[in-house]
Amino acid sequence: PDGDGLTWNKAPCRFCGTGCHVQVGVEDGRVVAIAGDKAADVNKGLLCVKGYHVGGILYGKDRLTTPLLRRDGKLVEIDWDEAIEIIAQRIYDAPDKFAFYGSGQWTIPEGYAAQKLMKGGLSNNHIDPNARLCMASAVTGFLATYGVDEPAGCYQDLDECDVLITWGNNPAEMHPVLFSRVTDRRSRGETIRIIDIGTRRTRTTDAATDYLEMKPHGDVAIALGIMHLLIKNESYDKSFVEKHCAFRGDEADTPTLQGEAITEEHFRERIAKYTPEHVEELSGVPADQIRMLADLFGDRDARITSLWCMGMNQHTMGTAINSLVHGVHLLSGHFGRPGDAPTSLTGQPSACGTVREVGTLAHALPGGRLIAKPEHRAQCEEFWNLRPGAINDTPGYHTVKMFEQFTKPTAEGGDITTLFVQVTNPGQTLPNLNALFNDKQGLEDKFLIVSEVYPTATTQLADLILPAAMWVEKNGVYGNSERRTQQWFKMVDPPGQARDDAWMTIAIARKLFDMGHEGMRDKDGEFIFSVKDENGDEVPVWQYDHYYDVNVDKHLFEEYRQFTRMKHKNLAPYDEYVKARGLRWPVVEQPDGSWRETRFRFSGFDDPFVAEGQEFDFYHSTSGDGRAQIWFHEYHPPPEVPDEEYPLWLCTGRVLEHWHTGTMTRRLSPLNRAMPTAYVEMHPDDAKSANIRQGETVVIQSRRGAAELPVWIDGRGKPPRGTIFVPFFDETKLINNCTLEAFDPFSKQPDYKKGVDMNKLA
Ligand code: SF4
Repeated sequence: PDGDGLTWNKAPCRFCGTGCHVQVGVEDGRVVAIAGDKAADVNKGLLCVKGYHVGGILYGKDRLTTPLLRRDGKLVEIDWDEAIEIIAQRIYDAPDKFAFYGSGQWTIPEGYAAQKLMKGGLSNNHIDPNARLCMASAVTGFLATYGVDEPAGCYQDLDECDVLITWGNNPAEMHPVLFSRVTDRRSRGETIRIIDIGTRRTRTTDAATDYLEMKPHGDVAIALGIMHLLIKNESYDKSFVEKHCAFRGDEADTPTLQGEAITEEHFRERIAKYTPEHVEELSGVPADQIRMLADLFGDRDARITSLWCMGMNQHTMGTAINSLVHGVHLLSGHFGRPGDAPTSLTGQPSACGTVREVGTLAHALPGGRLIAKPEHRAQCEEFWNLRPGAINDTPGYHTVKMFEQFTKPTAEGGDITTLFVQVTNPGQTLPNLNALFNDKQGLEDKFLIVSEVYPTATTQLADLILPAAMWVEKNGVYGNSERRTQQWFKMVDPPGQARDDAWMTIAIARKLFDMGHEGMRDKDGEFIFSVKDENGDEVPVWQYDHYYDVNVDKHLFEEYRQFTRMKHKNLAPYDEYVKARGLRWPVVEQPDGSWRETRFRFSGFDDPFVAEGQEFDFYHSTSGDGRAQIWFHEYHPPPEVPDEEYPLWLCTGRVLEHWHTGTMTRRLSPLNRAMPTAYVEMHPDDAKSANIRQGETVVIQSRRGAAELPVWIDGRGKPPRGTIFVPFFDETKLINNCTLEAFDPFSKQPDYKKGVDMNKLA
C-alpha cells in the first residue's frame, strides 16, 4: 500500500502457525487498515478471513487496562507497583512453590525472559507452555526420529508435491492460506492428488481426490499397514534405507523415547501382522485403500507431502503416530527432495519459535539443551554467567500436572501455591476442566496471576489480573511452522496501563533483585536482565517508563541467539530480521557478509551443515551414525471406546472463523456474526434415532461433565455415524468439561480428538 497517508509496516499475522505477513496501516496512533504483504513468501499478499480482520483485535470494548486484585471476592484496581510487589513477595517467600504457564503466542523474547527468570534465576523448572496441549507429540516424534526437533522441509513442499496427504488434518479451515498454495496450483491447471485421511468430512475433504474415513485412532494402524506392504512388496527404497536409516522399536516393558535398536529382520517380523485386512479391522479403512497408499509410496517418481497438526498430536499414541509417519516417508525414500516431506504444522504463531526453539517446556533449556543432562545445565549456566549448579537438575511439572498441583489443596500435596499465566487461557483449554476447577475446597493459600488482554474463562478464576499489551502494541519476534523467524516493531501504544509480558517478567525479577534474591544476580553481581545503553550505562527497563528507551527485544534476542548455535538452529542477527519477511533457520553467514536461510534440512543440496559431498546427513542422529530412525510401534487401542452407556465418540477442534478460545476473534464482529456459537456436528441418522432436530439444544454428557449445544446436522463438517464434533472456541459452552485426561506417555500431551471420550444425548 502506498500514497494513502497511512504509515505502513510489516508484522506476522497474530493468529495461526502459517505465519502470513500482513502490512499494518496506522493513522493517528491507531491501526486502521490491514493488507496482505505481497513481499512475503508465505502468503504472497493473500490472507484468510481472520488475517484480514486482525487489526480489530486491539480494539474490543472490554480491553483490560489496569491491574486488578481480588479483595473480598471483588476485583479492585491497583497500580503496577503494588501488583509487582505482590508477585515478587509471593515468589520470594516460596520460590519453589511458584509456577509459570506460558504459550506459543509468547514472542521469542518474552518466552526467553520467562525461561531465564525461572530456570536461571529461581532454580525452578516449573514452567511449561500451552503448546504442551497442541504439539508436544510432534516434538517427541521429531526427536525420536531425527534426534532434533522441527520439520526438515518447508512450505515449498506444497508447491512441488504431486500428492498431498492430510492425516487427521483440516488445513482448508485451520491453515487456509497454506492450503490455498495447493488449490491455487490446481486452478492453474496442475494435477495434485489430495488424499484426506480423517474421522469426519471437512472442507479439506471437499477439495480431496480421495477421502479415507478412519475410526478414531486408526491412523496408527494405517501407517503400520503402509510399511507392512512396502516391506512385503519389496517396494521400499532399499538404497535410501541402507545408506541413511536405522530401525528402532519399543521392546522394553517400560518403553522409552529412545527405544532400542532393532534389525531390519526384526522390523519385518514385527510388522508382518499389519496386513491390509487387519488394518481395515483396526482403522475402518478398506484394505484396497491401504494398498493404494502403499503403491503411492512405492512409486519413487511421485513427490508426496504429508501434513498433520492436532489430529496426530492430541493422541494417546501421539509420539508413535508421529514417528510412524516419518517412518513411512523414510522407508519409501520420500524424503528430502522438494515436495517429498513429512511435515507437521503448528496451531499457534510461535509454537516453534518460542516453545520448541527457546525451550520453554518444563524439561528443556534454550538451544535444544535438556535439564536432565549435567553438561547441558553447565553450558547454560556459563552462557548466563551464573554460579555452577544454579539450574535445578529436576525437570518441572508439565502442563496438566502443574494445574493438578495448583488446584489440589496444599494439605493434600498440592505444592504449587502461586501460578502466573501469560498469553493463554487454560480455564478453557485444559482437559477435564470440571475436575480441575470446580467444587474445590481448601485452596485459600493459592494465588492465580493472569496477564491478559480481555476477560476470559481464566481471568474469572484469577486473584490478580495484569493488563497486557498485544501484537503491534509491542516489539516482537515469532517463529512459524516452517522454521521461519519473523520480526516486527511496536506500531501503536497499548491502552491504559497495559504492558508487555517481557516487561512484567523483568519488573518482577528486578523487584526480587532489590529484595536481595541471590538468583537475580549473575556471578559478577549484575542483574540477570541488565540492559545497557550504547554508553554502557544500565537502562532501568524494569521501571514503567523506561522499557522502550532501548530495544529490549533486540537485547534479549541477541542473547538468546547465542544458544541457537548449539544444535544447528542458527539464527541471524536481529537486524537481518528487520529487513526480511522472516528467515528459515539455520541461517548462516556467507563470505560476502550476507545471511542465507535453509529450506531443506539434512539435504546436501541446501543444508549448510551436511558434510561436503553427502546427499543426506542426519547430523543429530540418535544412533550417532548420521542415520534417521525408522520406528516400529505396536498398535494399542484407545483408552476408552464407545459402549452402551456412552455410545458416541467425541472429537473437538477449531473452526475457520475463530482462533483457539475465541478471546480475540470473538471481539471481531464480522467473524463472530459468521460463527456466533459453538455447536455439535452430528450424522443425520444419529440425530434421527435420538429424535433430535436441526438447531435443537442437546446436552452432551460424558463421564466427566456436560455441555449444552445446538445441533448442526449435515453442517460444515460431516461426522460419520457414531461420532460427534464440537469446536472449543466458545467460552459459554465449555466442551472441555467433557474431555478426558489421557496422555501420550512421552510427550504428556492430552488427547482431545479421538478414542478417549464417549457421550450420550440427554
Ligand atoms: Fe493469519 Fe493463519 Fe489466516 Fe495466515 S492463514 S492470515 S497466519 S490466520
